[in-house]
Amino acid sequence: MASKTESGAVPILPVLDGEDPWTAEEVAEVRAELESERDRLRMAVAHADAELAELMNEGSVGAGRDPADVGSSNFERDQELSLLNNQKRLLAQIEQALRMLDDGSYGYCENCGKPIGKLRLAAFPRATMCVSCKQRQERR
Ligand SMILES: [Zn+2]
Repeated sequence: MASKTESGAVPILPVLDGEDPWTAEEVAEVRAELESERDRLRMAVAHADAELAELMNEGSVGAGRDPADVGSSNFERDQELSLLNNQKRLLAQIEQALRMLDDGSYGYCENCGKPIGKLRLAAFPRATMCVSCKQRQERR
């Protein structure tokens, strides 16, 4: 891993009122979780990409096949595609969180700019919105 910074500097991450400041260990934990999730997703996306290419291939050489067969492989392909898109979105979110962790903007709500809070980030390291903005968004 060449990207590891060994300067020992811990980014100052925001906390909510009443929360203790982040310790170096807690920041390292959040980063480790994001990184392992990122690696897992990268593998999953690569796998799904290969799977999908195979399905696409089957579809194109499948002329004269049983229409029911074609239907089910279309269905499979659609499912694979939406799964892949979900994973790619999640991966982008995690990569974004890691970038923000590097440049010190991690931990602020992307909607209202207030601290997201340590408790929430410890539970959901990739969270980019505070609880109230997230709830508001989900209600829409
Ligand atoms: Zn917010």
